[in-house]
Amino acid sequence: MSWEPIVKEQSDWPVVPNLRNYAQAIEDFSWRRAQQELQGLPAGRGLNIAHEAVDRHANTTGNHLALRWLGKNGDVLDFSYEDLRKLTNRFANVLRQLGVSPGERVFALAGRLPELYLAALGTFKNRSVFCPLFSAFGPEPIKARINIGGAKVLVTTEALYQRKVAGIREALPSLEHVLLIGTDQQPTHIPGTLDFHQLMREASDEFTIQLTAPEDIALLHFTSGTTGTPKGAVHVHGAVVAHHITGKLALDLHPEDVFWCTADPGWVTGTSYGIIAPLTNGVTMVVDEADFDAERWYRILQEQKVTVWYTAPTAIRMLMKAGAEIVQKYDLSHLRFLASVGEPLNPEAVVWSQKIYGKPFHDNWWQTETGGIMIANYASMDIRPGSMGKPLPGIEAAIVNKTPDGKIEVVTAPEIQGELALRPGWPSMFRAYLNEPERYQKCFADGWYLTGDLARRDADGYFWFIGRKDDVIKTSGHLIGPFEVESILLEHAAVAEAGVIGKPDPVAMEIVKAFVSLKPGYEASDALRRELFAHARSRLGAVVAPKEIEFRDKLPRTRSGKIMRRLLKAQELGLPTGDTSTLEDS
Ligand code: AMP
Repeated sequence: MSWEPIVKEQSDWPVVPNLRNYAQAIEDFSWRRAQQELQGLPAGRGLNIAHEAVDRHANTTGNHLALRWLGKNGDVLDFSYEDLRKLTNRFANVLRQLGVSPGERVFALAGRLPELYLAALGTFKNRSVFCPLFSAFGPEPIKARINIGGAKVLVTTEALYQRKVAGIREALPSLEHVLLIGTDQQPTHIPGTLDFHQLMREASDEFTIQLTAPEDIALLHFTSGTTGTPKGAVHVHGAVVAHHITGKLALDLHPEDVFWCTADPGWVTGTSYGIIAPLTNGVTMVVDEADFDAERWYRILQEQKVTVWYTAPTAIRMLMKAGAEIVQKYDLSHLRFLASVGEPLNPEAVVWSQKIYGKPFHDNWWQTETGGIMIANYASMDIRPGSMGKPLPGIEAAIVNKTPDGKIEVVTAPEIQGELALRPGWPSMFRAYLNEPERYQKCFADGWYLTGDLARRDADGYFWFIGRKDDVIKTSGHLIGPFEVESILLEHAAVAEAGVIGKPDPVAMEIVKAFVSLKPGYEASDALRRELFAHARSRLGAVVAPKEIEFRDKLPRTRSGKIMRRLLKAQELGLPTGDTSTLEDS
């Protein structure tokens, strides 16, 4: 089925877009000019994300509302840019007093609480490295990431600490300080931890950011590969140039906007566009602590008069499921720009939003490694529903194929499938996988960064997503490495082999499905399945644990002994199983 393009007329523009003419913007663009939109630290002390996001505005439009936090129980907290300046100064001073140096890692494990945002920005000010973790992770993913990252500080809540960290604390040798977010009124008293709010109260609200080189590390974001441990993608302070300009051009942020990015900072989107880009662009950003709920979301859009909304396809599909009728109860007239990221946005969703909200969702594409949006549909550009759009100014994207001798061939003809590749050099490109130079090098060939995604480009330069090259699983926007799940299943006494795949799902895109064979002496049964579910959930957390488990007598393996996930997936989908010549039993 083909979809009519959504053609945009200039008269449809509610405000003049920052990017008015794509071809012209490409021609005029340079990263040097993009950097000039930022201020730099006073007295030539370099470029620091927190200065660009907070202090710069505090000095000029300090009373402007920077962050409105909506608590899940109805609390509302407002922070102006000046409030953020002082509070993030306090957190930077807390780190300094604890002896946390530039370059040392500060992890956060918390829901979308204001303290998480203060910790992130305060960490940047101290030139330490911030690493947000999903609060839905179980103890195993938390332990793996804290140890790979060598966390010195963990900011978390009392409840999360008790449930997920206390039991593994002995196995976290680098962790020196745990800061617990209680409430202002009730200090926390758990042995071996410090009280976040008490430290904040005692700290000064003046802090001078010291020399920050653009290449100084600012952020560590974990992502998953097909095999091995999670990978820590390293991002630098200079990335703020890309955060800022992509927020401006792809999300069309204007200072008068009320912007809502629904992503959790545990995912790179929730940091690049849930903290940094909106603040560097001087907007008011809304943060909602609660989980998805269609009515709540529409109420927020109405009451907060959200103008720019950035969300993900799984959420959009859930809104579609909730139906068009409830939309009629709300006034969404302030919305002017809708964007989506994280998984393929099905064309139906774009057309639906145009019909129901009167505005289409603008899909854009990027990944943890790219640090910022690379390909997008722009406010001024016609949308081809189902397409990710066109590369940002300053970004060279291509469809490539690897030749048998390892060379990269750029596909120039339209409509040919290949790997999506980017020319390195944009400011928010990851600089390393922490302590894994070989894994990092493998992502590059012949002067290209290879994204691991398959795509095609049409004759007019629009890019279309086809799928992943590897076995990683995308479920409700989260990237999950099958290896991490298999490893935990294999720890169970009954499990001999485990193979984990992404099974297509109409809402979540994929769900985690595990195939398991049992050790002699164990019988497949519903009781055992329930036991395995519980085991996986307690160790991995709800987002990572499998949603389905199927018992098999034996799992297909290659002759070299690797479980053939590709074959399991083909069998699951009833597809041809392709080349099985490397299969153990063939
Ligand atoms: P993450 O690093 O967790 O943000 O995941 C990045 C991956 O999500 C990409 O490599 C893609 O496979 C997928 N992805 C992100 N945005 C899109 C999009 N707009 N369309 C299709 N897939 C996407």
